[in-house]
Amino acid sequence: MNSTARSTWSGWDPYPLFVQGGSGSRLTDVDGNTYIDYLLGLGPMILGHRPPEVTRAVVSMIEDRGTVFALPTEDESRLVAKLIAAVPSLEQVRLCNTGTEAVLYATRLARAFTGRSKIIRFEGMYHGFSDGLYWSKHPDLDEAGPDRAPVAVAQGPGLPRGVGDNLIILPWNDAGLLAEVLEREGHDIAALITEPVMCNTGCILPEPGYLEAVRELTARHGVVFILDEVITGFRLGLGGAQGLFGLKPDLSVFAKGMGGGFPIAAMGGRRDIMALVADGTVSMAGTYAANGIAVAAANATLDILARQGTFESLFERSDRLREGLERLLSDARIPSSVVGLGPVFQVWFSEHPIRNYRDAARHASHTVFRRWWEGMMERGILFHPGAFENLFVSCAHSDDDIDQTLAIAREVVAELKG
Ligand code: PMP
Repeated sequence: MNSTARSTWSGWDPYPLFVQGGSGSRLTDVDGNTYIDYLLGLGPMILGHRPPEVTRAVVSMIEDRGTVFALPTEDESRLVAKLIAAVPSLEQVRLCNTGTEAVLYATRLARAFTGRSKIIRFEGMYHGFSDGLYWSKHPDLDEAGPDRAPVAVAQGPGLPRGVGDNLIILPWNDAGLLAEVLEREGHDIAALITEPVMCNTGCILPEPGYLEAVRELTARHGVVFILDEVITGFRLGLGGAQGLFGLKPDLSVFAKGMGGGFPIAAMGGRRDIMALVADGTVSMAGTYAANGIAVAAANATLDILARQGTFESLFERSDRLREGLERLLSDARIPSSVVGLGPVFQVWFSEHPIRNYRDAARHASHTVFRRWWEGMMERGILFHPGAFENLFVSCAHSDDDIDQTLAIAREVVAELKG
């Protein structure tokens, strides 16, 4: 590996590889090693690397029409129509560039619509890097110890004083506590934001009835329910998690998978709320919002995802991998669970069930996770080195990739046991 690159790099710490390029389910590093990639650029490469149809759509956009933005285009209208057709709760949509921006717009809109200022968010969820919702350590849970991760909330170094003042940060999967807080303070709360499946604390599923309770309670108190589908959107189905769960949030945000590897995001929902954008009350800016390249990529990506059988085979392969890993670990009696839904999941090394970030911070072993990650990585299986992150499966992963991954996992599990 190039030593200048190594010494000037300030990126992710534990990564010992510099990427040369990717194709399909594989990444190759500058030393010529190839990996089966379950990191997928943190999720966007839902079709795998360099999906030919997306590449062709982008190249033809550039060659035939140029990188149009700042004025509406037919391509943009087509994309918005596809989003509205795919996701049940979307009545109107605006495009932007990143998940962070989409979240910022949604919370700004909710505050303008309700005239209230507070936002409820949940411990351990990540909704982007804007100061208003960002995470850092939770001072009350530091006792978690060196083998554990700190609980994430929006307070701490790097954030200006007062940034967290308008935030109420609650543990997830606790409808009783939410009901109490809304009863007491609902009149001050503009919005509640949550992921439908917790994907930024490893992977944690909503307990039965939890999201329905969130929907019902927020509606009762006039709080705008924002669903952050940046990871789950166009990954758990064309209609996102909300399509799968039959959930109807007031506003939703999407990014990552919708661009097939190109930066694009969307925010949308109820027409009466979105009307504040259309009439200029709330501004959504961004020079590159809805730029032609990203729109072309998203149009091509959604067309591919909409094809018959796409999600069925994605889920089939993902389930086979998840269940296979679960079996290997349980046969070896390693305290663990493999939690997730379809193409997004995480391996927890813990003997306790994990239902929210507090449980994860207290019980999940980072040491065992790290040994697992290193064993897999050394043998060419790439995923995020954090015990609080996810494995992503793409449409490009083949049955053969899954078989190879399980065969390698068998060796690594034997090492963990020994
Ligand atoms: N919301 C969620 C749930 C995310 O996972 C992320 C990114 N990991 C974001 C928002 C922010 O998206 P972006 O990185 O595109 O700004």
